Order: sequence, then C-alpha cells, then structure tokens
Amino acid sequence: AEIYRIQLPRNMIENSMFEEEPDVVDLAKEPCLHPLEPDEVEYEPRSSRLLVRGLGENEMDEDEEDYESSAKLLGMSFMNRSTGLRNNAAGYRQSSDGSCSVPSLRTMVVCAIVLVIAVSVIMVIYLLPKCTFTKEGCHKKNHTMELIYPLATNGKRFPWAKTRLPSNVVPLHYDLVLQPNLTTTKFAGSVQITVNVIQVTWNIILHSSGLNITKATLTSAGWNQAKPVAVLEYPIRDQIAVVAPDALLVGQNYTLIIDYSSNLSDTYYGFYKVSYKDEHAEKRWLAATQFEPLAARSAFPCFDEPAFKATFLIKIQRDEQHSALSNMPKNITIPVAAGIVQDEFSVSLKMSTYLVAFIVANLKNISKETNRTLVSIYAMPQKLGQVEHALDTAVKLLEFYQKYFHIEYPLQKLDLVAIPDFQAGAMENWGLITFRETTLLFDNKTSSAMDKKLVTAVIAHELAHQWFGNLVTMEWWNDLWLNEGFATFMEYFAMDRTFPELQTDEEFLKVRFKTMMKDSLNASHPISSAVQSSEQIEEMFDALSYIKGASLLLMLKKYIKHDSFQAGIENYLHNHSYGSTRSDDLWDSMNEITNGTLDVKKLMKTWILQKGFPLVTVKRQGKSLHVQQERFLRSVESENWTSDASYLWHIPLSYTTNKCNPFLCPYAYLLDQKSATIELQEEVAWVKFNVDMNGYYIVHYAEDDWNALIDLLKNNLTALSAKDRAHLINNIFSLVGIGKVPLLKAFHLLDYLVKENHTAPISQALFQVNLIYDLVEKRGMQDLAARVVDRVEKLLRSKIDQQTWTDDGTISEREFRSTVLAFACSHHLGNCRTTATKLFEEWKASNGTKSLPTDVMKTVFTTGAKTDDGWEFLLSMYTSSVSEAEKHKMLEALASTEDVRKLIWLMQTSLEGDLIRAQELSHIIATVIQSLPGHLLAWDFVKENWEKLIRKWHTLNLETAYIAQPEMHIFLTPQVKTFFESKSEKVSQLRCVKEAIETIQLNIKWMERNLATLQQWL
Ligand SMILES: [Zn+2]
Repeated sequence: AEIYRIQLPRNMIENSMFEEEPDVVDLAKEPCLHPLEPDEVEYEPRSSRLLVRGLGENEMDEDEEDYESSAKLLGMSFMNRSTGLRNNAAGYRQSSDGSCSVPSLRTMVVCAIVLVIAVSVIMVIYLLPKCTFTKEGCHKKNHTMELIYPLATNGKRFPWAKTRLPSNVVPLHYDLVLQPNLTTTKFAGSVQITVNVIQVTWNIILHSSGLNITKATLTSAGWNQAKPVAVLEYPIRDQIAVVAPDALLVGQNYTLIIDYSSNLSDTYYGFYKVSYKDEHAEKRWLAATQFEPLAARSAFPCFDEPAFKATFLIKIQRDEQHSALSNMPKNITIPVAAGIVQDEFSVSLKMSTYLVAFIVANLKNISKETNRTLVSIYAMPQKLGQVEHALDTAVKLLEFYQKYFHIEYPLQKLDLVAIPDFQAGAMENWGLITFRETTLLFDNKTSSAMDKKLVTAVIAHELAHQWFGNLVTMEWWNDLWLNEGFATFMEYFAMDRTFPELQTDEEFLKVRFKTMMKDSLNASHPISSAVQSSEQIEEMFDALSYIKGASLLLMLKKYIKHDSFQAGIENYLHNHSYGSTRSDDLWDSMNEITNGTLDVKKLMKTWILQKGFPLVTVKRQGKSLHVQQERFLRSVESENWTSDASYLWHIPLSYTTNKCNPFLCPYAYLLDQKSATIELQEEVAWVKFNVDMNGYYIVHYAEDDWNALIDLLKNNLTALSAKDRAHLINNIFSLVGIGKVPLLKAFHLLDYLVKENHTAPISQALFQVNLIYDLVEKRGMQDLAARVVDRVEKLLRSKIDQQTWTDDGTISEREFRSTVLAFACSHHLGNCRTTATKLFEEWKASNGTKSLPTDVMKTVFTTGAKTDDGWEFLLSMYTSSVSEAEKHKMLEALASTEDVRKLIWLMQTSLEGDLIRAQELSHIIATVIQSLPGHLLAWDFVKENWEKLIRKWHTLNLETAYIAQPEMHIFLTPQVKTFFESKSEKVSQLRCVKEAIETIQLNIKWMERNLATLQQWL
C-alpha cells in the first residue's frame, strides 16, 4: 500500500511475555476505540472490559480547562465561537466514555460472569509457574491453554484461545458469490471454502467480522450429502469456529459453505461504498474494497492471515447498468434476475486474502497491451482525459520490472483504478490496483513537476508490489517491511532507471531525513517487531517499515554492489514465488550470492532487530581516522548526552577525501565494533563520511574536520555532491539537537548557501530553518521569528529575485523555483507577493480560464486566498474544477488562510464529506496546523470530533498522526497528555501519542538550550 505520503502509526505494545495471549489479558487490553460498525457495538465481552478496567476516574473537568486555555491563546476571534465549543464539549463528554458500550442488563450480567471468570483465571495464571507463558512453556503448554478458552457470543466455550489462527486446517480454494446493492447499501454473500486438514480436529477456526451468518454446511467427498454445522462466534478476535459433525480427518479435503449478509461500510475499509458526482452532476454510488491489512474478513468469512494463500473464484451480481472489476479478467456474464447479471472472473493464482479486490461502478478506461498483459487505467468518465500519463508510465514500469526481476508479470491484465474517495494513497491488490485520484491522474494544464513525480512514484511502488508482496508475501505482519520497504526501495530505483529526468533520488533523500528524525526518538521501534493485535498490526504501516526498510536496502545495495544485489533479489523471488517469507529468507537468498564473502544476515540483523540508528564520530590524526559508534538518541533525560551502550550495528561506512582515487572512491569500511581506526594512504585536507548519505547513520566530526568541511562548502562546493551538501546540513542541525554542536556553527555552515543552486541542500536548509521558525513563532516571539527569516533571506535574496514565474527548465530547476518562491511568499520576502497577487488577479479576471504556471500555482493561490474576495472565488473554482491536481493546490491555499471562521468551516465541511470530500480532511488539517491560529484550532477540532474521526477513518491514523507532527506543540504539552490519557490507557500507549509527547518535550529542551543564543546573535 501507499500511505499518501503520511504515515499511520498505531498502537504497539511489547508483549513478548504473553506470546500465547491468554484471554483475560486480552480482555483487559481490548481497545475502547476499536473501530466498530454501529451494529457491532453490543458485544458483551467488549463491555466487560469496562468492568475489568474502568474503575471510574473522571478526567473530564480537565478537558473543560483545555478549551478555556486554547481560547485564551487564540484571543478574541476564538472566543466568538467558544459557546458553541462548550456545547460540543458537553456532547463530547457524554460520548467519550460511552463509545465502548451502552450497558444493558444482559451485558451487565455477562460482564459480571466474565469478571468472575477473569478473576479466577488471573488467580490461576498467578499461581502457575513462571514458565507458563514463555516460548518454551512448561513442557505441558497445551494443558494450561485449555483453562482459558473464551466464551462465544452464545455463551458456549469457544474452542480457540489465540489471536493467530491454528494451522491444523488450511484453505485451498474460495468460491465467492457477492451481491452488493448500491441502493440499500447492503450486500449478501455466499462462500464455499475448500480446506485441507493437516491435523485431526473437530473445529475449523477462521475469521469473520460483522457478518450476519444465516446458514453453514460442510461437505466432503466421502459424505453423501452436505451436513449442517454450528458456528460459534468470538467477535473480539473476529473469529468464528465451525463445529464439525464428525472428526475431520488428516489429508482429507472438506468444503465449508457459508451464507451471510452485511452492510457496505461507510468507512474507507472493508467492502465500502462512496458517493460521487457523475459528468451530469448527479450523485452516484460506487462500491470498492480495501482489505489490507485485516478487512477481507468483513467481506467474506476467510482465513485472513497473509500466509494462508489460496485460489479465488469470484462472482459478482450487479445491476445491468453498472460494471464490475476484480483481480482476474472477466470470464462470462450471465443474467440471474430481472435487471441483475452475474460477472464471473477467472480463477486467481494462489494469493493472500488481503490482496483480494472487487469494484462495482460506472468507470471508463483506456488500455494498452504489453507482453501479453492488457494494462488499463480506469477513472470517472469526465476524467478520462487525465489518464494517459498513468498508462504510459505503468506500461513502461511493468516492462522494466519484468526485465529486472527476470520474472514475468503472471496475470493477463492489470487494472489501475482511480477511486473518487479513497483513504490511502493506493493499494496493490493483485491485478486491480486502486488509487486516490491525485496519485493516478495527471492533467497537462494543472499538474506540476512535483505532481508528475508523485503519480509516477505511486505507480512504481504499486507495480513493485506485484512481485514484492503479491508473488512473495511476508509470512506475518511483523515483517511488513519486506513488503513495504522493498516496494519503496524499488519505487525509487525503478524511477531512477526509467525516468532519470525526474531526479527522484533526491526525493528519497528527503524522506530519509524525516524518517531518521522519527527513528531517533525513544518511542521508535525495530522495523521487524513482534505484533499480534489488530492495533499493533495497523501501527506497523509507518515511516519505518516503508522508508527505513528502503534505506537499509539502499545501504546494502551500495555495499555489496548492484549486480550481487540484483542477483540476490532475483534469487529470493524465484525461491519463494507463491509462498511466504520472513526477513531471514531474504538474507539467506542474498548469502547464496555472496557465497561466504560476506554474511548479509549477520550484518542486516543488527539493523532490523534494533530500533534507531548509529551516530558515527570521526577523529582524524595524521593519516589515521578513529571512528566510533553509539546510538543516536534525541533524549530529554539529561543535559549530558549519553547513549545506551548495548547497541551495536555493523555499519558499512563509506567515505571520500580530497585525495580520493577516482577508481576506488568512495572507500568502504565495515565497522562492526564499537570503534576502529582506518589508515589512509596519505594525509588529507578533509574527509566526508556517508557518501551521498547512502548509509543510514549520522556523522559527527572533530572541530577541525567540521571547519575543513565548512570551508570546502564555501570555497569549492562542487567538490561534494548535492546530496552530500544536503547531508552535511542535515547532520549538523541534528547534532545541534542533541547538544553536540553549537547552533551558531550550524548557521555558520549555512552561509555557503549564497552559492548553492541545487534543490536538495536548499530544501533541507529551509526545512531546518522552518523548524526553528515554528518553535519561536509559536511561542509568540514574532520579532525573533522575523529575524530568523531575515537571516535566511540575506542568503537567498538574489535567488528569489532571479526566479521567473514559469514552468521552464529541468525538473530540478522547476522544483527549485517552486521551493524558493513558496518560502519567499509565505514570509513576504522581496516582491514575491506582489507578483503572485498580480497573477492571481489576472486569473480571477479571466474567470479561471487563464492558465497559470503549474509549479507556482499553489503559491499564487495561497497569496490570492489571503483576501476574502480571493478566498471566495477560489472556493467557487474549487467546487467546479475537474482536475484533482488543481483542486489539491486550491484546497491547500484555502486552508492556509488565517481566518479562523473559514478554517473551522473547511474542516467541518470536509468532515461532512459532501462539498469537500472526507478524504481531504487529513490534508486540510495538516495545512491548518501550520499557521499560528490554525494549530490550536486544529487541535481543538480533533478533540471535539475524536469519535467521528476514528470511526470514519477506521484507525487512529492520519488525523492523529498529524497531531504527532514534530513541529507544532510547543504550548500544548499538558493538554496533549491529558487528552490522550483521558481517552483510555490504550490510546495513551499509542506510538504516535508517545512520539507527540516526546517531540514536544524535545522542542522545549531545544528552546532552553538555544533561545539565548538566538536572541543574542540575531
Ligand atoms: Zn506499499
């Protein structure tokens, strides 16, 4: 999946002790905020959790105070709405602890029973020997497990007590018939699952979530007729147990037939419906699926774990006027009733449940055949003019991957579909990839250089998944990085090879910097971490699995050289096609290639099993380079920075010097100890480690070496690559953050920027300066903030003045222009706003028909939206535009106003999802949060609408992730903490919450350390 360039951290609890997860422990941990369908809320065991845990503390008064203090901070404009807020706050108060259940007499009774059972089980666990829940067990592990079987919804014993499914029965084939009704928004389904029995059993345990099962039977070749079977349900784990009439015998196949019905989801998860306006502005419905990671079970009963691969035969019954798509090509369409037909698709290859997909809609497409595969792009009919770029790109990339992996894409068709309302960036369903419109559609008139990069990148990512993820799948979600890290790595690699003019390697560098900021927090986690619960699984879809995973592969590739790397992954894909893998399988495949010269497994384990990354400190003495490593941790604990001594990485160091032999450069050295000494051939004037930042570590130098590098930048900047220059800027500011380098030295380094003409270093410099600007500005020190900007303006002034307001030049020049002008206009530098205003007025006078340069379009809109007139006009154009690329820029401009009422209106309207689609809300909040009034407002909005947000978005992802953005919450510490603590223990344990709180503390620390310097110096 592609996460819309924003990560979705979720809960992660280190629970190695309870690998077996006895039920009582789970009851106590079950999340209050587990995403529920409304009709799902009444499950008794859920409410029992309240009794187990919630012994009534009332924190709500503190919420009241939060509103007060926010209002004070926002001043008068905020007070205007404070009465409304209070009313909402009262409503919010009622729901905040009621989201788990509305206790009825029945649930109370069940709760009491569960409580008694819970207490007795806790006693039993307490009295058991300590070895009971260790991996090894006490030699009679099964015996203890029997004690803690949970109760099914009908009160009977549920015959399975673990989160993971048993492996005694495995699915071979699914025959699935679905009948979605877009008018009633319900669907009926029937599934026949052929299973094979590995160990004799009386039960088949599988997943089902929110399905109303009406009939279940079981057949076998040996039986003369299908036998009805009882189905027990245990909704806490989305499990059902089919109780067989006879023992199921080893080696035999059985067919389980289940009829059921359910509602189409109104979230973006599962089998869901969305509305959209067609070309005649009429409201229409579309149904689509998003199953990754755990929602296939909400569309049909299934063995919903990635390792349970099977074949699928899918049949969709639909209205005649719609059409249906699925993973495989359509085989035949037959009439089934008046106005209803059934599409039957070909039998799929062996695949995981999370990759199953189907869509019922009225979309149009264009297609092109390559290498016996028909590639099609689908979009709403009025947007068919914007799909050509995607088609060309997809065909080119598909050809590239087939050549690079030496494995053909195995299906006869590949559909890429733009869904008008879609939460993620895209989803790699095998043969039927779904996208948000902005990540697939490209409009020549309104899409910018950056938009082109985005569309190309997302297609490259999803196509890479057709091999990494679909053909070879991670065995379990703990190794999600194998899917996502690889797809992300291949995305940049394939673009670099196929579309070098897009220069996306610098994009990759930028996201690596951001990911390292996150990974240097204490709240970080190893990219391969044990996960069990749905929250833990969803929390794996974060920047670390994607970007850190990809960064580690890049580092490995550079170290073992490209040919070995390519041979290694080819080997891996061949060895495991249609199978499932763990991280070790990848390293084993690589080791077959390195053949004893390097133990890839030993090296890479230090990176995937440890959180964080190393700081390498270099000290030069004559011809000797002393290098030592320690963990780079941004800590709030003490003034004296120390790191945990137990961390040790095997670091493939790379370095270059002024005397570098071009045939040997960059040099490599494997640092697998705490410290080492590297001997150079001769003395050098300077040395730069981590060449092009291909390695995942930060480098600190002795004072003289820093000075030598700073001089080098000032006098001969092309001696280092643009990536190296960006890397030095990033490193020095990171080191300021942990107190290793004084702030003034970092600013001293930035002085070379007068000569810089490249985007990567400039945008890294502006990123660092903006962080400081935000900290100062949001503490109310406007004057000091202005002086920070002045300082940078002096360095960039001539570049700002040189820019033309056009789309001319290479991609790099265009991006440079876009970055510099956006910065200039947002800080009112030079005559930026004058020019932007003039362009906006001309565009407005032409009623939006005059075309604007795409790369500066957003800056023009943002400047124009500063007046009431401009804002209103932009909004009217927003509602009529058919280009998502244009709308995206308009919306960002609308949300950058500082008019509080307009901001509230935007967020509210998007939450309703009619005039502005709900999918845009996260983007709006991310923009609103950037301004001074906006960041408090956005925080209040999220608090007020918490329950709605997490219901609609299923997980605590985008919105809360924005709350956890590093820049913003200098004031808000007590509020953030109190709010999350008031929600539930589970929420306060969320990783994104921990990250937010840690970041806030780090920001405060940063200010304590550097404010005086800034004030004196500027
Ligand atoms: Zn992905």
